Amino acid sequence: MIPYGKHYLDEEDIQAVVDVLRNGWLTQGPKIKELEVEVSNYVGSKYAIAVSSGTAALHLACLAIDVAVDSKIVTSTNTFVASANCIRYVGATPVFCDINPDTLNIDASCFEELLQSSSDIDAVIPVHFGGLPCDMDAINKLSQKNGVKIIEDASHAFGATYESGGRVGSCQYSDMTIFSLHPVKGITAGEGGIITTNSEEIYNRLQLLRSHGICKGNFDLPGLSEPGDDLVYQNEAIDDGLLNPWYYEMQSLGFNYRITDIQCALVLSQLKKIDKFIKRRREIVKLYDEKLEGIENISCTQKNSRDQSSNHIYVVRINFSKIGKKRGQIMRQLLEKGIGTQVHYIPVTKQPYYNNLGYKSQDYPNSEEYYSEALTIPVYYELSDKQVELVVQCLKEVLS
Ligand SMILES: *Cc1c(COP(=O)(O)O)cnc(C)c1O
Repeated sequence: MIPYGKHYLDEEDIQAVVDVLRNGWLTQGPKIKELEVEVSNYVGSKYAIAVSSGTAALHLACLAIDVAVDSKIVTSTNTFVASANCIRYVGATPVFCDINPDTLNIDASCFEELLQSSSDIDAVIPVHFGGLPCDMDAINKLSQKNGVKIIEDASHAFGATYESGGRVGSCQYSDMTIFSLHPVKGITAGEGGIITTNSEEIYNRLQLLRSHGICKGNFDLPGLSEPGDDLVYQNEAIDDGLLNPWYYEMQSLGFNYRITDIQCALVLSQLKKIDKFIKRRREIVKLYDEKLEGIENISCTQKNSRDQSSNHIYVVRINFSKIGKKRGQIMRQLLEKGIGTQVHYIPVTKQPYYNNLGYKSQDYPNSEEYYSEALTIPVYYELSDKQVELVVQCLKEVLS
């Protein structure tokens, strides 16, 4: 069986987890900071903060930019529901942006139109679909002009690079970038997420929000940094000029979105292999490009940017109506041949929850058309050249 995606674990990964179980802290220990330092070094950001999932990362990122409850946040129609749900979590209204048919990412000119037609857009969450970075230069310029904050959803894009050369996660175009560490993503913690930023203020807020809004004995955090302003601080925090050992302060309404040391040990070990993961994925997608060339009724997507992309997934477009077969039928026939496929994504605007809020998928024609033709075929580190050829052979058979 060849699944559409699969994580890769080696003995080192297993040993790293076992070491923590034998010797370490299970949570709130040193592995978390260690991971955060490694990630910010790798992507080139000042700060990184590890949390319990990519969805938690999106939620905290939306909280950290202080959006007004009645404000609007733009995101892509072609994404996992979490990119839009985080906007609802903070009481704001999602505004969906249609995609560019070539990149499958939000279209900068569509984003510009949204900004022109609506003055109360506070933020944008561009999604680097399939690991291909959005046109961040254009999105950044438009956002700056309109006072719009930027949170990159880079769940697919760990290890990807911008056209300008910097790594996704460096936040050279954004306020924050979030990553997911789910097993189908580039590197995994089982469940987990990371937020990167270059803003110390945002970083401090995120730290508080990750752990109940509580800070303990840290004089760099807001509140405790100004002794004398706060009665509670004066009465409770200090005896004889020393900080009382039990004292902590809840300064905002936070969550328990912490990640464990067990998970961070696994990601730290995975991170050592990121270069070879990226290299192999690049080889696989280029082999598909070559082998699929010229086959009727099937076309590749995002083909011109393989060297920038982290190549998280490989999507082909198939003209199902022309070949007279439904997508479900093709997927079942491939599965009978031992090949797993998937569809990324059902446009978020098609989901009943968003329908009920009044969104209509026909308002996003590029996403609709793309969705009607999309099929994700297998890409993962251990997929061999022979298996790539087998997938292509089976595709040819079921399409003819
Ligand atoms: C996976 C994913 C998420 C959510 O990440 P989790 O770690 O599963 O919570 C958000 N956005 C996109 C685009 C994703 O692919």
